[in-house]
Amino acid sequence: MPRTLDPELRRALAARIRYYNEMGIYDFYRRPLSEPQEMAPATSEKASMASGQSAVVATAIETQPQWPVFQPESSEGMTPRKAGTAVLPVAVEENMFEVIAAKPEQGVSDPAKALKLIREDLGDCTRCPLHKQGRKQIVFGVGNPKAELMFIGEGPGADEDEQGEPFVGRAGQLLNNMIKAMGIERKQVYIANVVKCRPPGNRTPEREECDTCSPFLMRQIAVIKPKVIVALGAVAAKTMLAMSASMAQLRGRFYDFMPAGIRSNDPNWQGCKLAVTYHPAFLLRDPRQKGEAWKDLQMVMKELDLKALRTT
Ligand code: SF4
Repeated sequence: MPRTLDPELRRALAARIRYYNEMGIYDFYRRPLSEPQEMAPATSEKASMASGQSAVVATAIETQPQWPVFQPESSEGMTPRKAGTAVLPVAVEENMFEVIAAKPEQGVSDPAKALKLIREDLGDCTRCPLHKQGRKQIVFGVGNPKAELMFIGEGPGADEDEQGEPFVGRAGQLLNNMIKAMGIERKQVYIANVVKCRPPGNRTPEREECDTCSPFLMRQIAVIKPKVIVALGAVAAKTMLAMSASMAQLRGRFYDFMPAGIRSNDPNWQGCKLAVTYHPAFLLRDPRQKGEAWKDLQMVMKELDLKALRTT
């Protein structure tokens, strides 16, 4: 009977695999449990043979009692990630490939259908503590499945929780105005959040909650294949970029971005650019920063050549 991984261990494994993916390694070999502790022989079962690069992850894990989990610097407003010091049980080899199992949307060329499959895979999610902290519904994301521009916020608030759509309250109205000022309409872009359930009292989502939920966002991004993502606020920026810095340091430039743990099957999409600007809720509290946010959006407009922005 298949054993189930401890959620903490599962998250650590997912982080480890994302770390390999970020280094450009996607293919992994599974070695039978009874084999000696050495590199997988040619007869080992292969999880994937799609590319030339590969890693014997199981061996790497077993031979490192304290294996390093991908751990960016701790960030403002979020709890730091726990150090990866797990001593893994043998059962890991049976389960770790569950983490990198083929996703249902893979090979689906219609982005709307692919997004639907991701939503179905998310289900009535109970993967992180936010599921039992008063959410009314999961706020998956909304907009054009082929959008060239995506906005990523932090998490749903009360209005979003009520309506099941991101950015529909006062901050949402301001975001709509920002989008309009860019010469486009809300329906042309795609809008989502790092976490899909409302944190109680609109608190900042915990690092663990972001880590658990964001893989679904990464899958959404991989399906939509935008040209530019705008991260709204520090939580979104730090989660997407896996780095810690002030907003002043993060803004004002583009980052090359590829969703963690995702390998694009589209040779025409090898990632996108990511810009950081202030969260509309922050701009409502401090309207003096609107000029700075506008500079960020102008940078994005230039990059997208908005006259040519796709409308379907
Ligand atoms: S925030 Fe994300 S991971 Fe957590 S319960 Fe909601 S959908 Fe699931």
